[in-house]
Amino acid sequence: MCEDKYFLDEADEVIFTNVNLIMADGILYDRQLRVNGGVISALETAGTENSADRGSLRVIDGGGLYLAPGFVDQHCHGGGGEDFMENPRIATAHHLRHGTTSVMATFTIRPTMKQMRDGISRIADLHFSNDPLAAAVAGIHMEGPFLSPHFGASSDWSVAPDVEMALEFQRLARGMRSIWSVAPELPDCFEVCRALRTGGEKYLPRFLVGHSDAAHEEIMAFVPLGLACATHCTNATGRKIEPTRFGGTREFGVDETVWLTDAISAEVIPDYYGVHVRPLMLQLILKIKSDERVIIVTDSSGSSCGVPDFVPAEFNTEELDVSFNDRAELAGSKLTMDRAARNMRRHTGASLVSIFRMAALNPARFIGIDDTVGSIEVGKRANLILVDEDLYVHGIWLDGCEVAHPGGCV
Ligand SMILES: [Zn+2]
Repeated sequence: MCEDKYFLDEADEVIFTNVNLIMADGILYDRQLRVNGGVISALETAGTENSADRGSLRVIDGGGLYLAPGFVDQHCHGGGGEDFMENPRIATAHHLRHGTTSVMATFTIRPTMKQMRDGISRIADLHFSNDPLAAAVAGIHMEGPFLSPHFGASSDWSVAPDVEMALEFQRLARGMRSIWSVAPELPDCFEVCRALRTGGEKYLPRFLVGHSDAAHEEIMAFVPLGLACATHCTNATGRKIEPTRFGGTREFGVDETVWLTDAISAEVIPDYYGVHVRPLMLQLILKIKSDERVIIVTDSSGSSCGVPDFVPAEFNTEELDVSFNDRAELAGSKLTMDRAARNMRRHTGASLVSIFRMAALNPARFIGIDDTVGSIEVGKRANLILVDEDLYVHGIWLDGCEVAHPGGCV
């Protein structure tokens, strides 16, 4: 199953020695971790005997580094110069090399219905194939098309909610897990979400509020339907009441509703310079929502690793992980989850344990895959990454298969 240029040789049994394990609730120092048939089979104290007498056994000396759950990125449009809707294989491989072992391939609105249909079908084709990379595609994130035209990347980035269109997209996804970013204030959006939930899907779709200026009541009406997250919190959100009452009050909009409501987690895009979210705002969101309800995402727009097309004078090319168009307007991110995690740690001082809750366990819970991924536990898939204190990735394993060229570009 590892026979692919993106993977190294596999072994039936793998033992990681000399590692510190980043668990969901703390760090276990100086341990061993055993993998059998792609599944975590035992956590052991250092020096437990290695029985090398059956099958192929590989011992990996972790050199005192940290072994952590692979990243789960629920909001990622592409990578390696490719968009998931055009070339999901390259985009998946690019992010896998940076430690993302589960990705929700994210829909990008297209000018024509045919392009949108084809894009969803390509993602489903990879997800349901025997390709070794398919194991890293957890499902699809429909960030659109039912978004507010006033809070999108452009006014083209919106289609009025339509039950038939939504059900057609759901059929094209062929039973993949799906999450949908929607603007609850749009007419018929509630009917669309209800139809998606009652179509007999094995995995019930879940919803995010995003690209929206819905009022508190409008958002809360969707919570019983499965709305449990906010799309890139504080980006592309608004408040209904403008201008403010009495000429000086702060009104209550999408972000405030998300902060108040424990049932709604918050995606954040932590880039190096705090372009998407200022470091102080990241600190505020983390303080309000805690490391149980913040979800780190890349919102990567598919750019390759190369030099950005345009770099405003105040930024250093090396560290710039967002894209701008030639009018110096924000045009997506070039992030990978390792960089996003590093930025979050630098901006907020969050511990390694907190970082992996926000970058692996919390998204896995929202998507509904935390029974198999998102944390180190016996019985879960051996989706693992070896990182140092500064969150640089030294090794990646998908279902126990070692990924070639960690940190490299596709
Ligand atoms: Zn996005």
